Amino acid sequence: MATLVFLEHHEGELEKRGLAVLSKAASLGGEVAGAVLGAGVGDVAATAGRFGASAVYVCEDPALGAPLPQPRVDALERLVRDQGFDTVLFAQSILASDVAAGLAARLEAGLNWDLSDLVQQDGALVGKRPALGDSVYVDVGWRGEPRIGLFRSGAFDPVETGGEARVESFSATFQDFSLAATMVEQAHEERTGPSIEDAEIVVAGGRGLGKPENFALLEELAKELGGAVGATRAVVDAGWYPYGSQVGQTGKTVSPKLYIACGISGAIQHKVGMQNSNVIVSINKDGNAPIFEYSDLGVVGDVQEILPKLTELVRQRKGA
Ligand SMILES: Cc1cc2nc3c(=O)[nH]c(=O)nc-3n(C[C@H](O)[C@H](O)[C@H](O)COP(=O)(O)OP(=O)(O)OC[C@H]3O[C@@H](n4cnc5c(N)ncnc54)[C@H](O)[C@@H]3O)c2cc1C
Repeated sequence: MATLVFLEHHEGELEKRGLAVLSKAASLGGEVAGAVLGAGVGDVAATAGRFGASAVYVCEDPALGAPLPQPRVDALERLVRDQGFDTVLFAQSILASDVAAGLAARLEAGLNWDLSDLVQQDGALVGKRPALGDSVYVDVGWRGEPRIGLFRSGAFDPVETGGEARVESFSATFQDFSLAATMVEQAHEERTGPSIEDAEIVVAGGRGLGKPENFALLEELAKELGGAVGATRAVVDAGWYPYGSQVGQTGKTVSPKLYIACGISGAIQHKVGMQNSNVIVSINKDGNAPIFEYSDLGVVGDVQEILPKLTELVRQRKGA
């Protein structure tokens, strides 16, 4: 097996979700390499060796400076054809989803998306994929090569194995149509603390918070705990909190050590995004709220009263 993993980077670091897929690929054996594409990215590439890559292919070109998919499809197509990779894996993101779909079309390859696992079964590579609102897992495979797979974010953690990667540069030729789109403007979310995908603690809020201003209560608790704030779709749709924080079927999948759900009913579409958290604590004033059915600890009460007390308690414990 010769596997290539697409590695995204941000502010001079390889992103955790790509390294997690790299670790998974390395655990399956065979040749595993990473692809790092961009402008001025040579320095970050070698990090991939610590997570199981024996080689990292780096393509540096101004055309790859903006996070646009088509130039990346051109570069990866060339790399896969030249090096003969039989498997290409991606960690889910908006960019990765576009690139994976474009590459599948270009190489006439099969793409399995939303994978939560990948295993060797009777000599074949088999993907595991949730279906029917995450109520069942189905096995998916590929009829030919290269096999392309896109993993759900949060499906794995990066595992450092301490190796070293050979870094090789390659150049790409871009199609005219690939350069037709230009990035007009880029905005960066201002954030202190970890992202919800990386945080070990997520404090999430729903409509039970009553009004957008009450998200400040969650932010204070998250700050004290060193965590991040998540939200349900109901409050994101209402404009109370940004989409980047949405947890669930049409948002992000998270698997922190602790998930504190505040004023969240626990709809199936929310559950699928946080059910793999180690410990789930829920605060809801309705003792029959569905979220209690899959919580490790449930508190029946008003979030507006409980949250300030909880934050104060955490402060006191930290100070003690
Ligand atoms: C195709 C599709 C995709 C979807 N994708 C997502 C998704 O990605 N993520 C997602 O979250 N949802 C998603 N949804 C929406 C989902 O079905 C629910 O509507 C949504 O999760 C409900 O959000 P909520 O829990 O904030 O609100 P509600 O369901 O209104 O629940 C509010 C809860 O707060 C409690 N409450 C009220 N006041 C207080 C108080 N003072 N103190 C404590 N508790 C209080 C109530 O008892 C209630 O349980 C999707 C739906 C569809 C159809």
